[in-house]
Amino acid sequence: MKPMSGLASYAVSEENSRGRLHAETAPQGRSEFQRDRDRIIHSGAFRRLEYKTQVFVNHEGDLFRTRLTHSIEVAQIARSIARQLHLNEDLVEAISLAHDLGHTPFGHAGQDALNQCMKEYGGFEHNLQSVRVVDVLEDRYATFDGLNLCFETREGMLKHCSPEKAAQLGELGERFLTDRRPSLEGQIANLADEIAYNNHDVDDGLRSGLITLEQLATVPLVAEHLRAVQDQYPELSGRRVVHETVRRMINTLVTDLIRQSARNIAEHNLQTLEDVRNAPALIAFSAELNNKQKELKRFLHVHLYRHYRVMRMSAKAQRIIRELFGAFMAEHRLLPTQYQTGRGESDAERARVVADYIAGMTDRYAIREHRRLFAIEES
Ligand code: MG
Repeated sequence: MKPMSGLASYAVSEENSRGRLHAETAPQGRSEFQRDRDRIIHSGAFRRLEYKTQVFVNHEGDLFRTRLTHSIEVAQIARSIARQLHLNEDLVEAISLAHDLGHTPFGHAGQDALNQCMKEYGGFEHNLQSVRVVDVLEDRYATFDGLNLCFETREGMLKHCSPEKAAQLGELGERFLTDRRPSLEGQIANLADEIAYNNHDVDDGLRSGLITLEQLATVPLVAEHLRAVQDQYPELSGRRVVHETVRRMINTLVTDLIRQSARNIAEHNLQTLEDVRNAPALIAFSAELNNKQKELKRFLHVHLYRHYRVMRMSAKAQRIIRELFGAFMAEHRLLPTQYQTGRGESDAERARVVADYIAGMTDRYAIREHRRLFAIEES
């Protein structure tokens, strides 16, 4: 269903939004969700994404994806899908650009190490940390902490959450306890993330030389498009073959997702945003593409993310995170002044401050900070 505004009746809109925690005057000349996107782009955490690892550490090469370029690719894919389904494009853009703000340096290796360090103190999870960044840690406004984003933007950022954590998050955590869904816009950003990283990791994996096109030709989703490219352009070689293949893969996944989701939406006869929350997850691939995408994921897991050269970098990264955490916990006065907490605070509170500090670091800042703490000739 598509009213005059161009948005479906079950899309998130300014009219059905639950709004912001702190009341603010309405924006001039832009929508509330454009305002969210703008706030995200101007945040410090967003700029730091430029120097955070996606798979390859920033200093390994200039052409690899970083968290920043990854987030921009997610936003591009999510907007294409939202537009076709008459959903709120500004909202999916805001969610996409913010979804990785809580990532530690060094990608998943960094997050795993920090989670391990924080085990006794409530753990560390990058997804929850993204929400913490926009709710608490950004300090840009006179009268509130964080960016005071709309409920639907924050909800879309919170992909998963344990029941214990959900219980502490109030309205935001509610759906995890009552088995309800986020907006379709939130669901889109989540799957656009998968489409983006599966495809750019193929591209980056090939560029790094850690995986080969011959290996990838054993993965059905890649094989069918690679064959199509080779049939159409028998003379083509090198990077152009890769790019022609990857863009066909992205297109196939996006088109399939739009088609299947439209079918799901029609079947559930959605009328309102409330219907979306009560229905099962409706943004989805067809069963066939879902399987193919999973096979690609498995391939990348075995051949790229577990490649010994990636593992070596991950091991180094984890050591850096663990040693930074240990040093700051042992002696709080090593922290920059603004992070030093008052006396009498609990270990858990102090650990959270250390985790926030470490999680906010870029790859190169963490490496430098480690050197400053552990190399005697540095200061
Ligand atoms: Mg992501």
